[in-house]
Parts: sequence; C-alpha cells; structure tokens
Amino acid sequence: SYVLYHDQIIKSGSIPVDPEDRGYLFGDGIYEVVFVYNSKPFGFAEHFERFEQSAQKLDLSMPYDISTFNKLTDELISKNNIVNGMIYIQMTRGVAPRNHLYERNMQSVVTGFAKSVSLDSIAASQTSGIQTYLTEDIRWLRCDIKSLNLLGNVMAKRKAADYDCQEAIQHRDGTVTEGSSSNVFIVKDGTLKTHPATNLVLNGITRQLVIKIAKDTGVPVLEEAFSVEELLNADEVFITSTTMEVTPVIKLLGTRVQSYKIGPVTTKLQKDFKQVIEEKTSA
Ligand code: PMP
Repeated sequence: SYVLYHDQIIKSGSIPVDPEDRGYLFGDGIYEVVFVYNSKPFGFAEHFERFEQSAQKLDLSMPYDISTFNKLTDELISKNNIVNGMIYIQMTRGVAPRNHLYERNMQSVVTGFAKSVSLDSIAASQTSGIQTYLTEDIRWLRCDIKSLNLLGNVMAKRKAADYDCQEAIQHRDGTVTEGSSSNVFIVKDGTLKTHPATNLVLNGITRQLVIKIAKDTGVPVLEEAFSVEELLNADEVFITSTTMEVTPVIKLLGTRVQSYKIGPVTTKLQKDFKQVIEEKTSA
C-alpha cells in the first residue's frame, strides 16, 4: 500500500520514524479522518477547515494549503484503489530534542494512510442500532481540538467494549458531552438536542451536517447541553461520526440503564444523510 509522508505518496514501510517526533513524545499534533465513498472524499473542505482550526489553536504551522492536501488525498485514494474507505491524515509539531517548551515555526511532520472499509459493516449497526455505555468524561477542557491526545477517549471505548457496547456516552457531572469517537443526539417530542459546539466536545462534521439537514427539513434542533436524566427519558438516541454516519442507540448500560426504539426522526435523518452522500459522491 501507499502512505503519505510530507507532500509525497510513497510505498508503506519506507517512512522514517523519529523517536524525537513531538507527536510520540507529547501527543503534540492533530489529525483528521475523512470518509471515501465511490473513490471520492466526502466533506473534504469541512474536514480541512477543522484541521486548520486545530492547527491554529495549537500554534502549529501549516506546511501546505488546501489544494496540496486535496491533491495528496486524491492520490492516496487512487494509488490504494480505495472505492469505499477512509483517509487518515496527521500532523505533528515535528522533531526536536525532548523539551516541553516548543519553538515556533518548526517543520511539521505530515503522515497519512488510506484503508478500505466495507459499507456492509457500518450498514449492519445502522439497521440494528448499537449498545452504549454511560461513563464519566475524564478528558481535558479542549475537546474542541482534534488532537492526538486521545487517552480519555481510548479508555472510554475500552470500558464500553468490556460491557459489550460499541460506544461510550460520556458525561461531565451529569451533563452529556459526547461519545468516545462520536457526537450524541437525543430526540424528545420531535425535537433534536445535542451538546453545543463548545470546548467540551469536538464539533463533528457529521454533527454539523445532520443539524443542517434537520433544520432544512423542518426538524427543530436545540444545540443545548442535556442531562443524563434527559438521556434516560429521550424518545430516541443516536450518535454521529464520519465512520458511523447516523447510528441509532438501542441500549444504555452503566450506572444507569435504558432501552430505546429506533424512531422515525433517526430513520429519517439516516436516510437524508445517505441522500447527501449520494448527491455529493456519485459519478
Ligand atoms: N467526537 C469525537 C471525540 C470524535 O473523535 C469524533 C470522530 N472523529 C466525533 C466526535 C465525530 O466527528 P466527525 O463527525 O467529524 O467524524
């Protein structure tokens, strides 16, 4: 397979890994995951914009502009013969002798790869729904940055899996924030609710698109924090992410337990979301 290294697409296995890269030492870097449908990246501009914002928030310098990243992404897709799959792009602050203090304008290190994904595998959980595990959000206070520091998310996901759940639902002092790698929505009396795009959650590209679709089609949306009690009393619950699209939640486990039906609002948004993918990535 072929991978991204700086502004080149090269054979995998040939990337020099430097142990003094600040990505390894401090998790000092950012990333994006873009889905590929029909060999086309979906929402590339939106993902790149968030990548730039993450870079800016961490005082990381961007070595290339959007057209270069776009070209490299297309090359990753074509050289790896990806029809449906995902692209991972990461950028660390670069290589320097270990010191918490970073110097400005270091040479960022860009790497990336592509993987084929079977759409059948995500279709299954979208049809049947997933189980989720309620857990405390122990992460830092800049979850708006898509940084490489994901230990809180990683620990939440492992805990969820240990209870036979596909995703965690995290809460801070009884306020639901987001999943370990997804945003969380509830439906109550026909109205959608999801945590506002503050420092406590990642403003998901899928989240933003689902909110837009809902508003455009007359489904009321409140970008308001909601409590664990509201989660328990919701009519429908679903998660959104690049790799899971719109996936219904049928069970909550953990300190509180609840079951949900896959409801009409979730099903409609799932369908509308698929429609947008189709429109934007058909030949
Ligand atoms: N929150 C977190 C913590 C995530 O890791 C992700 C997925 N990267 C999301 C939300 C969903 O974001 P997106 O829709 O852009 O994939």
